[in-house]
Amino acid sequence: MTFAFSLRDLIRMAEMTFSLANFPRKEQMPALCARCGRAAPCTRRIRLKVYEPYRGPDLIASLAGASDDDQRRWHDLQQLLAKGNGVVELPICWWHRWIIPPMLGIKTMTERQFTLWGLCNSFVQAMKQRGWSGA
Ligand SMILES: [Zn+2]
Repeated sequence: MTFAFSLRDLIRMAEMTFSLANFPRKEQMPALCARCGRAAPCTRRIRLKVYEPYRGPDLIASLAGASDDDQRRWHDLQQLLAKGNGVVELPICWWHRWIIPPMLGIKTMTERQFTLWGLCNSFVQAMKQRGWSGA
């Protein structure tokens, strides 16, 4: 794999935002590798959030204007997701499943939505054709 290929690969990375209340399940996605667009016989599970104990209001967040209430609600949401529903399963090709770990994951997450990064354009296009707006 040449440097030029890797660089072009990075530039082609796309993002897509989904609602936490309604994000696509595996059978609603195209059978294309989310990372490179090749045929995808495998899947990769991406956890939307990991468990973290609530340590009380965070100083930085408090300074930024988030109330203790807001932070507690956010914490509760994380707990809910940590119980197991907060997993998105992406189609992935054999290559990216077993040879090279795909550089993709959760870029940002709020109470209502999350953004996946590291997706390839053809996967995003195929998702849009299936009615996922990406916003
Ligand atoms: Zn792939």
